[in-house]
Amino acid sequence: MTEVIVIGGGVIGLSIARELSKSGIETIVLEKNDRAGDVTSSRNSGVIHAGIYYPEDYLKTKLCIEGNTLIYKYAEEKKINHKKYGKYIIATEKSEEANLDKILKQGKKNNIFIDRANPEKVYENNPGLTFYKALYSPNSGVIDVPEYVTALEGDIQHYGGLISLRTSFLGAKNNKNGFLVDCESDDLFSLDCKYLINCSGLSNEQTLKNIKNFPRNKIYRNYFAKGHYFKYSGKAPFSNLIYPVSGNHSLGIHVGFDLAGGMRFGPDVEFVNKIDYKFNESLKEKFIKSISRYWPELNPDKLHPDYTGIRPKITKPNESMRDFSIETEKQHGIKNLINLQGIESPGLTSSLAIGKYVKSLI
Ligand SMILES: Cc1cc2nc3c(=O)[nH]c(=O)nc-3n(C[C@H](O)[C@H](O)[C@H](O)COP(=O)(O)OP(=O)(O)OC[C@H]3O[C@@H](n4cnc5c(N)ncnc54)[C@H](O)[C@@H]3O)c2cc1C
Repeated sequence: MTEVIVIGGGVIGLSIARELSKSGIETIVLEKNDRAGDVTSSRNSGVIHAGIYYPEDYLKTKLCIEGNTLIYKYAEEKKINHKKYGKYIIATEKSEEANLDKILKQGKKNNIFIDRANPEKVYENNPGLTFYKALYSPNSGVIDVPEYVTALEGDIQHYGGLISLRTSFLGAKNNKNGFLVDCESDDLFSLDCKYLINCSGLSNEQTLKNIKNFPRNKIYRNYFAKGHYFKYSGKAPFSNLIYPVSGNHSLGIHVGFDLAGGMRFGPDVEFVNKIDYKFNESLKEKFIKSISRYWPELNPDKLHPDYTGIRPKITKPNESMRDFSIETEKQHGIKNLINLQGIESPGLTSSLAIGKYVKSLI
């Protein structure tokens, strides 16, 4: 018997478990893999977003802005490698200007610091960049995600929580204590808990089908939107994150960094039917074309396959962005079950704020 079971040891499950354990709530995280944070949480850009793009009344906006402050503070406290690079959002031609203005307007509505960039400053720090107009967001940065995951795990253990690796959630049904949860590690076993929190990311749909009486019409279908990253060998000419004006499902093939200063480009976006992280090298031409629009001096020979990630979307390719879905009994009718779906970007940035938010729901 435990008070809370969290399904999934990605940054979301870990942040929630950290927050609950810290408050003295007995919490167990079930993670099916050998290591925590090994799925979407380690297949992303590692960018700490500022909360510019999303509508002002979205939970996503609130949690991203709060999460931005919390994650920088946490990184400082725990000495996690991170850097506030600052970010330029660029229009490469006049036809994109309206889009840039829209982003600026939304950023201002969201009450975050964003402004028109001084072109001289952009060129000075990013020689070779070609653009028509740009916006500057100083609070965007990068965090070392494996170090972040390790810090969260350390805190959970420090506060008396437990992360059970190589342990799959098989199913749950209501009982007098709350839930009876069936698990599989080396053996099959069951646990009782009062609260059940689902943050199983890309597997959410299947997880919910295994919770008895969870209403089928409350399960969002998962759509998998794959993204590829190419790394750039050689010295990075840019000192800031560079994002072309965004599309509907991604923030464009942008310039990002690892914390050793290495530069990489991506991710693109392609909806796929199954979870498969295979790298499609034939995308190189598409990347070259896209990057050359803002960096004509790109040397294609220095562009090499890096890794892929899959966004846990709850929207179809032709649908517009949806908010994070964090639902309780009020929405799905099952007491003491908190269900998180569609925690795509900026989930990493928002993770500590999501932890606090979920605690407030309990
Ligand atoms: C290409 C890409 C780029 C991104 N870039 C950024 C960015 O720059 N900044 C940002 O803020 N966000 C970014 N994101 C979003 C961010 O990575 C996610 O929001 C975040 O990692 C989601 O974490 P999670 O814990 O929900 O999911 P996951 O990390 O997928 O964790 C879910 C866990 O549940 C486990 N699990 C599943 N089923 C079971 C089961 N039955 N039993 C036990 N365990 C189970 C899995 O093994 C997994 O470890 C990006 C995402 C992608 C794909």
